[in-house]
Amino acid sequence: MPPESESLVVVVSGPGGVGKGTVVAELVARFPDWLWLSRSWTTRERRPGEAADAYEFVDREAFEARIASGGFLEYAEFLDNYYGTPTPEPPPGRDLILEIDVQGARQVIETTPDALLIFLMAPSAQEQEARLRRRGDPPEKVAQRLAKAAEEADAGAELGASVIVNVEIDDTVKQMEAVIRAASKSR
Ligand code: 5GP
Repeated sequence: MPPESESLVVVVSGPGGVGKGTVVAELVARFPDWLWLSRSWTTRERRPGEAADAYEFVDREAFEARIASGGFLEYAEFLDNYYGTPTPEPPPGRDLILEIDVQGARQVIETTPDALLIFLMAPSAQEQEARLRRRGDPPEKVAQRLAKAAEEADAGAELGASVIVNVEIDDTVKQMEAVIRAASKSR
């Protein structure tokens, strides 16, 4: 996405288990004519009960072929799987939302310096762990994701993001709406 693009690029990042996916889905459902959510590619297996369109689920060969052809705005390896944002083409007049990890957020800020970065945090480590468990990840994955989350919280602070603590979904969505509207108007 070139820096002179009309669309505001909103990067929502934060450690696993903070409820990023739920909050972003709710935000986009409330404002479908304003916000456009990019659908990522991943090589991770689909979780039991996860929507078939949560990602474009692909194998490593397909992912690496797309890397080679320059078809990603950003991509990263997260716990042994690739995740990436295909070069986005939001409909005219819509602001673009990416829900990605901090490695991806760093790459987007390099190429799109006026992107808005929002970093979501869980109210407590206990709540984050409970959310990861509810999601159906096996226990060893929960442990890996919690370790990764601590690293990510540090990295997010360094990126100078707007930090929102996700205590209650409706309230978080309203705070995000306000931050995005302010950035969108200032363009
Ligand atoms: P999960 O496996 O829980 O769906 O996602 C793991 C991590 O990858 C989360 O932090 C999620 O935000 C991130 N992620 C999802 N899509 C992308 C993407 O396209 N690019 C990057 N860099 N990270 C992504």
